[in-house]
Amino acid sequence: MTLTAPTRLLPVAELERAVAGPVLLPGDPRLAAEVAPFTTTFTPDPAVVVGATCAGDVAAAVRFAAAHGLTVAVQATGHGLTSALPGSLLVTTSRMDEVTVDPAARTARIGAGTRWRAVIDAAAPHGLAPLSGSSSDVGAVGYTLGGGLGPLARKYGFAADHVRRAEIVTGDGRVHTVDAGTDPELFWALRGGKGSFGIVTALEVDLVPVARLHGGGVFFPGSAAADLLHAYRAWAPTLPEETTTSIAVLRLPPDPALPEPLRGQTVVHLRVAHLGSAEEGAALVAPMRAVAPALLDGVGEMPFAAVDAIHMDPTDPMPVHDRGTLLRELTADTVDALLAAAGPDVEVPLMLVELRHLGGAVARPAAVPNAVAGRDAAFSCWVLGPMSPPVAGVVPAVVDSVVAALAPWSTGRSLLNFAGSVSAAQVAGLWDDADRQRLLAVKRRVDPAGLFTHGHVVG
Ligand SMILES: Cc1cc2nc3c(=O)[nH]c(=O)nc-3n(C[C@H](O)[C@H](O)[C@H](O)COP(=O)(O)OP(=O)(O)OC[C@H]3O[C@@H](n4cnc5c(N)ncnc54)[C@H](O)[C@@H]3O)c2cc1C
Repeated sequence: MTLTAPTRLLPVAELERAVAGPVLLPGDPRLAAEVAPFTTTFTPDPAVVVGATCAGDVAAAVRFAAAHGLTVAVQATGHGLTSALPGSLLVTTSRMDEVTVDPAARTARIGAGTRWRAVIDAAAPHGLAPLSGSSSDVGAVGYTLGGGLGPLARKYGFAADHVRRAEIVTGDGRVHTVDAGTDPELFWALRGGKGSFGIVTALEVDLVPVARLHGGGVFFPGSAAADLLHAYRAWAPTLPEETTTSIAVLRLPPDPALPEPLRGQTVVHLRVAHLGSAEEGAALVAPMRAVAPALLDGVGEMPFAAVDAIHMDPTDPMPVHDRGTLLRELTADTVDALLAAAGPDVEVPLMLVELRHLGGAVARPAAVPNAVAGRDAAFSCWVLGPMSPPVAGVVPAVVDSVVAALAPWSTGRSLLNFAGSVSAAQVAGLWDDADRQRLLAVKRRVDPAGLFTHGHVVG
């Protein structure tokens, strides 16, 4: 086995004795499967990997990294991979996939490597739901630490607003239980500041009493995009907080797995989640249905467990370049600018340009305030392009050009989970000065050596 220079010098046997899970080095035939990300833009290339089985493994791995001059990265699913994690000790958390639901307290304890699907399935028999996002394949902990904007957001706010307690290994290599009483500053910071402060080994989160909803998606032909987006900007602000919606221009591949009318087409996808009766839901969606004939209409009564049907996110790993931007307002000029930059009439190598309607509980601080930034915006926009040949070379510039076209209406920031391919300075710029200083003060206290530098971290 050929080791990289830093790996060759590591006393790996010492690490193997300290952890129960596997320790993998470059060249190990198990490595590719262990670190396989959903976002395949990067191939993880850490110095050493620890497949953690428990909080003790995570703590031992962090202590080892600190002792041997390695930075520490963490990966649950690789949905949010932002680099190849060079030179790091990578902790993979997929084995830590426990979910325990307390139906009386309406809470769930979620292990670091748990995907939303497992939480949804554990909560559903009790008529409860987590504040998961558009895809149940995403990791619950990474999503929640980054804010977490899902289909129930306007009613219940961000997922991070419903964290009761976190178990975290910070730079000292010890496991801390953090809540509003034990360490209010760290508790504020980690709910919205993501992986900046350590590796969260488990979260205790609220579940909400949602067993069913009126929701789904309607696919319209791309030729109606202008009418639909202009109708959406007038319609969305009229909706009650019980209704969370988004709309996207999708350029779909000629994939035989897609329904025939969508295959290889540019379409407009309206997504709806309404917490109310079927009659109310149908009446609310009627103005959008009247804009154009649908290619496919999947809005109706559904159990919360079928929530993936709302966005129908891709389920296969893929290389992408993405950026987000937050819009103060969505005016007629904003829609025209978006259509000119990325509408169906423009030939651009993009997969998705999506507008998510904010407001409601998203706009209000959490009951126990946290570091989630972006509550002042009216819409969140997310732009994704494929980083595959032959277009990979131009995709980043195209994605940037769409964000630039929306700049006149942007707050200049994005939600952390939708920040995408941005620099460390741009990540730091997602918070106002006061909150950034507060985050940096916590970072200096709990990670003085700067071990946690990978991903979207502050400082
Ligand atoms: C298809 C798709 C759909 C998405 N939908 C939504 C959505 O609806 N709403 C939304 O808000 N976001 C959404 N996202 C963004 C997603 O929430 C973030 O990319 C999130 O970071 C993914 O977490 P992960 O653990 O699955 O990914 P990973 O790539 O495994 O982790 C990404 C980062 O999360 C942090 N992290 C993960 N685990 C831990 C831990 N245990 N302790 C500390 N930090 C940790 C680290 O910073 C890590 O670098 C989506 C992303 C994709 C690809």
